[in-house]
Amino acid sequence: MAAAACRVGREPSEIRLIAVTKAVEVSLVRRAIAAGVRDLGENRAQELIRKYRALTGHEDVAWHFIGHLQRNKVRAILDKVVLIHSLDRWALAVELDRQAGRWGRPVRVLVQVNVAGEATKFGLHVEEVRDFVLEAAKMPGLRIEGLMTVAPQVSDQEEVRPVFRRLRELAARLAGIPGATMRYLSMGMSQDYVVAVEEGANLLRIGTAIFGRRGREDGHG
Ligand SMILES: *Cc1c(COP(=O)(O)O)cnc(C)c1O
Repeated sequence: MAAAACRVGREPSEIRLIAVTKAVEVSLVRRAIAAGVRDLGENRAQELIRKYRALTGHEDVAWHFIGHLQRNKVRAILDKVVLIHSLDRWALAVELDRQAGRWGRPVRVLVQVNVAGEATKFGLHVEEVRDFVLEAAKMPGLRIEGLMTVAPQVSDQEEVRPVFRRLRELAARLAGIPGATMRYLSMGMSQDYVVAVEEGANLLRIGTAIFGRRGREDGHG
């Protein structure tokens, strides 16, 4: 991470590593925390809640929700996460706003963009993002702080560079929308984080490269 940042003249300290703990046992998550990991990511609500409870007492760790979020799970995770990376549809924005109102605090979110337009992935298409952010930014319960994407799986990492670049350029074009900031670009996973850093990512979501390969296969949503 640091080498990639320095290569393009970025400050390594401006990039946050989120350790993705899906399918990772709590004992191993504890070891990661002991080794200095402070940001944890989960893509399933049930699993996040279970690990959050198992790790109570670790006030210094922050949970990120990074997967496709069902509306009926919003309420249960709202008070446990610092950032939801995967706002991917209008109905979810409405429910997040509603639950934030009941809770009495705004929810911090990133808008998920399906940059490559893959049929198997969640997220807004690039052309839809501007109108979506313009409208969602008016919701008092939502605090939009940037964009997130999951790049296609490719064998040559150079192939994903245009995807990350498009997300960065999109964020730059959306800067200045009232009620939203574009301070975070959540992009880059085990396979492609080097290219993501070179293209401006400041939140990396990394599982396999930290914990090893997962036993069960997990959709990248
Ligand atoms: C699983 C997952 C990751 C981490 O993937 P790795 O390839 O294991 O680093 C990142 N983002 C999302 C949305 C995921 O579901």
